[in-house]
Amino acid sequence: MPRSSKKPFTPPKHDFKVGSRFRISKASTEPPKGAPSGKKGRPKNEAILAEHVSEIYELQRRLYADNTRSLLLVFQAMDAAGKDGTIRAVMTGINPAGCEVTSFKRPSSEELDHDFLWRASKALPQRGRIGVFNRSHYEEVLVVRVFPKILEHQRLPRVSDDVWEERFESINEFEHHLARNGTTILKFFLHVSKEEQTKRLLERIDDPRKNWKFESGDLDMRDHWDSFMGAYEKTLRETSKPWAPWYCIPADDKRYMRRTVAEIVRDTLKAMKPEYPKMSDEEKARLSEYRKRLLAQR
Ligand code: ATP
Ligand code: MG
Repeated sequence: MPRSSKKPFTPPKHDFKVGSRFRISKASTEPPKGAPSGKKGRPKNEAILAEHVSEIYELQRRLYADNTRSLLLVFQAMDAAGKDGTIRAVMTGINPAGCEVTSFKRPSSEELDHDFLWRASKALPQRGRIGVFNRSHYEEVLVVRVFPKILEHQRLPRVSDDVWEERFESINEFEHHLARNGTTILKFFLHVSKEEQTKRLLERIDDPRKNWKFESGDLDMRDHWDSFMGAYEKTLRETSKPWAPWYCIPADDKRYMRRTVAEIVRDTLKAMKPEYPKMSDEEKARLSEYRKRLLAQR
């Protein structure tokens, strides 16, 4: 058989798509000028979100029926950036059978008994499905890079001086393989400012309804804010590929963030052109036979 020269599917252009010269200090955490934002822009952003969500609903049905490809959405962010709320907003109303959300916490003992991509592979979406990663294999070049002591507990045979470059290579190869085999990967970094995070964490302390969300560990992470930003910058630069791009989404305005993520998901699904399976003439003829038979059975 001739080798296919077809490249893996590439998601359409978008302003927030990350390129190889990405600078995190230049990336805005606020909506662009002129975009609806704040209290005033809220109804507009919510209306746009609702429109996108209803389109995603229909596209997802087709993806499910088509049953050859899948979509993987990866979410990474500092604490309180709004990962959970965004996932909830974008996936609302989608057939639960067609979608699965996986949260990646500190690896379990069983997970540490395998290579670092093992648990991500296990959670990949089946054909026809949408998979959502709330945190992901990227923690391995983010939190682990900021706290390299974690490596000592990973039961690794060796830790090379190029451990981060090696991990980027592994991740890029893994995702390229998935893309060639029908999984479209969109990766979202929800970019919140340190000031906005302060505000949200204070709310978690001051508002009794939000107390349950407060974790003192989040403050330990904040102590390392600049190291995290450095790790995010390197990661996004090195692993944003045409077949598996990163998007740096301004996260200081939650409504704007949610509708922007929904827009990218909608645009990508649309470009994937999922179609309900078409019947051949022979199959159609058979259906009309079944129809006759069914009516005769009345
Ligand atoms: P929320 O706080 O909204 O419930 P979360 O994603 O912050 O959501 P937590 O249980 O608070 O969930 O935190 C999970 C922690 O696990 C994070 O600090 C994350 O960095 C850490 N983590 C995830 N993957 C790894 C990994 N591979 N190695 C080490 N730590 C990891
Ligand atoms: Mg947390």
